[in-house]
Amino acid sequence: VLDGKEPVCECNSCYEGPDCSEFVTGCAANADSGDPYFLQPFWMQHAAQSAVLVAGWHRMGYSYADGSYISAVLEEHIRKLHSTVGNAVTQGRYIVFGAGSTQLLNAAVHALSSDNSSNSSSPASVVASIPYYRLYKTQTEFFRSLDYRFEGDTSSLLNISEAGKVIEFVTSPNNPDGKLNKAVLHGPNSSAIYDRVYYWPHFTAIPNPADDDLMVFTLSKLTGHAGTRFGWAVIKNESVYQKMTEYMSSSSMGVSRDAQLRALKLINVVLETRGKQIFEFGYHTMRNRWESLSKTLSLSNRFSLQKLGPRYCTYFQKIRGPSPAYAWVKCEREEDTDCSEVLQAANVIGRSGSIFSAEDRYVRLSLIRSQDDFDILIQRLNQLVSEERQQQ
Ligand code: PMP
Repeated sequence: VLDGKEPVCECNSCYEGPDCSEFVTGCAANADSGDPYFLQPFWMQHAAQSAVLVAGWHRMGYSYADGSYISAVLEEHIRKLHSTVGNAVTQGRYIVFGAGSTQLLNAAVHALSSDNSSNSSSPASVVASIPYYRLYKTQTEFFRSLDYRFEGDTSSLLNISEAGKVIEFVTSPNNPDGKLNKAVLHGPNSSAIYDRVYYWPHFTAIPNPADDDLMVFTLSKLTGHAGTRFGWAVIKNESVYQKMTEYMSSSSMGVSRDAQLRALKLINVVLETRGKQIFEFGYHTMRNRWESLSKTLSLSNRFSLQKLGPRYCTYFQKIRGPSPAYAWVKCEREEDTDCSEVLQAANVIGRSGSIFSAEDRYVRLSLIRSQDDFDILIQRLNQLVSEERQQQ
């Protein structure tokens, strides 16, 4: 954009040309990655208000005036945001920033596994309930620490009384199925990392403020700015907080100050209307998409969707129908053992169930991409379902 060479828009896979206006016939509908472009129209309407311009001399040093890597103003804004939305308790809690929630998830595993309170010298078992977000496994295995080991599905530890220290990832709402999961393990040696990146009114009713010991949030799914790489953790225990801070310090000496500045600007826009504008926009967009997808697949016996019900939302102060970030589609026919292959044959790219350690009879479709991506997805699915009905 700045040098005039980069295109202003990123075309989706079904459009090309300098202004992305030429439709590519026979292209595939991309419902794969979780890029949250559904919020881009909101930011286009708030372009001036949300713009950041930073002079070359500004904020050059490593840390803030108080010696920390954390902007106190941004931290205050985050606390205010949670109390406004009512989705998390932050009073009396510590906050750590990270390069997206991705960095904080491993900082949390590190902090909980190196906690000295247990005498066990064996590595902590890290688990998650199927279907789970793949990064928990790939990241935990990638770092190959002596302190922890990824052990797969939570249920594998349910009946083992001497499992040693256990760290359970709990994703609520869950990626891929949108369920408001709760920790399954509650023993004296168990601790949970609550991944609450989708716990915002766009994607779920907010029944109450979450008050878990360790919760992780991200700008990526709140404002849609995944590329800014900014996330935060809300932590009850002081020693866990210190270990996570030490992790941040050793791995990257804190989070980019430019990222913090942009996060502050964006959260300010959110707070200006007490979140009303962005959450109304986000909820209605996601709700319309879910209704449209449900309608299409309700005509099919071949494909089914996860069941999610309406719930009272304390933020909107009314009952809200489901508006999940992802569809968790099941192929119901005996012979359709690879659902993503079935969809791929119809020009729809989703993410296979096995990526979430589930059966390939399932496939995840991302609903948070651009409107173009979603419209093409619905078009392709309508066609697939109408072919199914003609065959009956
Ligand atoms: N947790 C979950 C459940 C996610 O779906 C994602 C992103 N898709 C992340 C964490 C990571 O997000 P980020 O690093 O951008 O904060």
